[in-house]
Amino acid sequence: MVRYQKIVSEIDLEVQRLRKERGGSPCPLNCFDCCRSTATMAISEAEARDLKEGLRKLSKEVRSHIAKKANRSIQKLEQLGYSTENIIRDAGIEAIDALKGKSEAQCPMLIGGVCSVYEHRPIICRVWGYPIDNGSELACCKKTFIGRRRLFKPIEYARYWREARDLSESLGAKQKTPNCHLVVRLLAEIDRQEFIGK
Ligand code: SF4
Ligand code: SF4
Repeated sequence: MVRYQKIVSEIDLEVQRLRKERGGSPCPLNCFDCCRSTATMAISEAEARDLKEGLRKLSKEVRSHIAKKANRSIQKLEQLGYSTENIIRDAGIEAIDALKGKSEAQCPMLIGGVCSVYEHRPIICRVWGYPIDNGSELACCKKTFIGRRRLFKPIEYARYWREARDLSESLGAKQKTPNCHLVVRLLAEIDRQEFIGK
């Protein structure tokens, strides 16, 4: 995972650069709107391996709370006809639209308005809020850098994403996994490993 840590370090440096150029964090205090609709976001295997380390650090109670949230999202998605396969076809966009406004749309790792795996969050969570080059256009959260997006050199999100994808393929992963499904899988793996290690 040295390669993944290198990607993350580069991204963090880019974020620091933009913060310095802008004069601080672009997000309003206590805003976590972007985490309210990420239950189906597509996560690569390289990101998943890092996320797993973040989940492992949490207490059993917190992990159990996260698992319940993720399972609630999965259940609701299944009622609406969404499985891992058909969620991932468009990176979870249609499925998250179906959950719009519902608590099940929230990222399972958001607890009390705080990211419980902050140091291990996926790439998009690290860059959202800053101008990014997504490979086809300049993208940014609609609440930040308003009217000033083109004044800053964007973060090369598309390049970082490609690097994470290539790394994931080298780890044997054929496709990304929706957040809620991935979290349930990772938590089960952690439980199994802890049980064996006893
Ligand atoms: S991983 Fe953290 S930052 Fe990313 S969507 Fe979930 S709660 Fe938000
Ligand atoms: S990126 Fe946008 S939605 Fe997310 S915390 Fe910042 S301002 Fe809020």
